[in-house]
Amino acid sequence: MFRGFGAANPMWKGGRQISSTGYVMILMRDYPRASTKGLVAEHILMAEQTLGKQLPKTADVHHVNENRADNSKGNLVICQSRKYHILLHMRMKSMKATGRPDMHCCSECKTWLSWDKFNLRKGNTPVNRCKECNKKTAFNWRNKDREAYNAAARERRMMQKLSRAEAEKEAMKEIEKRR
Ligand SMILES: [Zn+2]
Ligand SMILES: [Zn+2]
Repeated sequence: MFRGFGAANPMWKGGRQISSTGYVMILMRDYPRASTKGLVAEHILMAEQTLGKQLPKTADVHHVNENRADNSKGNLVICQSRKYHILLHMRMKSMKATGRPDMHCCSECKTWLSWDKFNLRKGNTPVNRCKECNKKTAFNWRNKDREAYNAAARERRMMQKLSRAEAEKEAMKEIEKRR
């Protein structure tokens, strides 16, 4: 039987280590969310301890000061979904760079622009490249397509010429036989 979450669990061993991604991992082999190595992220343990129950699988924990190893209670915010967590980070990044939470940086022209300058993904977050940069790329693609089409057309015309010549040869043979 499983009783208690986080430090409230009698299986709590307190073995701490920092993961390669900067999170504090606790060795707790029998914890429900433990990895195959028996490790559980401390921020998950803390959140579940505070909630008094398991976090939904879809939930994510955010570190307010962006220090992934700082799992003090005031530093953790439970996000209902990964999507919401990503949005939170996007808004924080925007705030830092522009002083406004609603801007997005284009990966192509590296400019911070308002969201309406981007096409939106299914989850309503902006895509990487702004509409202007997308247009430029689309234009390049069209030109590339035209080149490919012209090359194909040239080839087709040559093929037709060849077959016409062959057809003429065949026709000539037919005529000679009849003579
Ligand atoms: Zn976060
Ligand atoms: Zn751009």
